[in-house]
Amino acid sequence: MPKQGVSTQNDRNPMYTQTENADDETYGSSELAMGLPKSSFPDVERDPRRIYAAVRDELMLDGNSRQNLATFCQTWEEPEIHQLMDACIDKNMVDKDEYPQTAEIEARCVQMLADLWHSPASDHAVGCSTTGSSEAAMLGGLAMKRRWEARRQAEGKPTDKPNLITGPVQICWHKFTRYWDIEHREIPMDKGRLLMTPEEVLSRCDENTIGVVPTLGVTFTGEYEPVKQINDALDKLQADTGLDIPIHVDGASGGFLAPFCAPELEWDFRLPRVSSINASGHKFGLAPLGVGWVLWREEKDLPESMVFWVNYLGGNMRDIALNFSRPGGQIVCQYYNFLRLGREGYSKVHGACYRSAEYLADEISKMGPFEIVFGGDMARGIPAVSWKLKEGTDPGFTLFDLADRLRVRGWQVPAYTLPSNCQDQAIQRILVRNGVSQDLCTLLIEHMKAALDHIEAHPVKESLTSEDASGFHH
Ligand SMILES: *Cc1c(COP(=O)(O)O)cnc(C)c1O
Repeated sequence: MPKQGVSTQNDRNPMYTQTENADDETYGSSELAMGLPKSSFPDVERDPRRIYAAVRDELMLDGNSRQNLATFCQTWEEPEIHQLMDACIDKNMVDKDEYPQTAEIEARCVQMLADLWHSPASDHAVGCSTTGSSEAAMLGGLAMKRRWEARRQAEGKPTDKPNLITGPVQICWHKFTRYWDIEHREIPMDKGRLLMTPEEVLSRCDENTIGVVPTLGVTFTGEYEPVKQINDALDKLQADTGLDIPIHVDGASGGFLAPFCAPELEWDFRLPRVSSINASGHKFGLAPLGVGWVLWREEKDLPESMVFWVNYLGGNMRDIALNFSRPGGQIVCQYYNFLRLGREGYSKVHGACYRSAEYLADEISKMGPFEIVFGGDMARGIPAVSWKLKEGTDPGFTLFDLADRLRVRGWQVPAYTLPSNCQDQAIQRILVRNGVSQDLCTLLIEHMKAALDHIEAHPVKESLTSEDASGFHH
């Protein structure tokens, strides 16, 4: 804290001085009245109270995350979670020996997920927490690559041309294939087909295919890809050709939805070919940002070469991670959620989201210009609504104009174009997460109607395109 009555200089403008007192009003203090350094490393110490105010103020400009309907990630948490996060600020997941109880909690979460996802090895489940689905996907993908390499080497065959088959995937799979030199055989979308199909998968399989990745909740529309159909088609492929190709399910969203809201859907370890699954704890797992999970079907599905054994109180534990130090609070909060909610609570929370999604889809389709692409049907996908402008019509505005107009009331409702081969198709999407309540949805619908009225009264002269719009989809 500056000493009483000391004359201070401003870093940016050394000519500007002001007498400073410890009890100066926050914004009247010279520190905040003159502006803080932005690009050069600050020279002097400053008052924590004032700097806190300045930093908090800047965060305000990020917008209100609760109105961000682009993100899949949690933006509301119970007060107990805030308390646990604070209590865990010092927990490092990598120090299993120093924080053995946090390590124990992580192991319990893995066991619980193995049970939830019908692992045949549920009493000795194999898996770990990660920073999110991206890291989990890297680990699941790497294990498939290593298993394929081992098989090929045993047969005396080359291992220089691995390929991976996916549908239209989240960017983490582009990263995985690029970082690990794997050919990415991504099934492009087509008019009327926005998901992978067994036929499209089979036509891309060969002896160099390390695995197939269906997504349970495709990023662009929210729909589930048909994991069981892919499983059955790959069974037939093996019977016909001998090729034994495993499945890794990207359950980033669906891994925490389907078990509660579509329990009949077979997508998990009930299918023998599913060798690993990833999910984001911080999406529909309802944990705060920074936790994902990857589980393998059985011990043999995780190559020993990926495992580092570490000591922790009374035993050995696997360390499988790309990171070294990593915060533990998110994992502790995940455990809190499992105990706090159970299957009952998760079903209620997610059930409310699906109801809101259906309401939104219904209202949006009634507005006139729009056609629903996916309406949040709980048997078919995640609680998301995606829509496009009715085919062959020109309402005089683009979805990018509408997204821009909704920002006036603080709503972030992303519009974006689909990936190849549907780059010309723009769609708009709402993710209904915990906390996007029925009442908030009603307000959003009112504001959408007001936006359409506004656009009609003040026709758009030059429409926004996907290039003009900020790319805030995920
Ligand atoms: C969000 C998402 C990812 C990436 O997950 P993070 O937890 O953000 O790293 C991967 N795949 C799908 C299908 C997703 O929705």
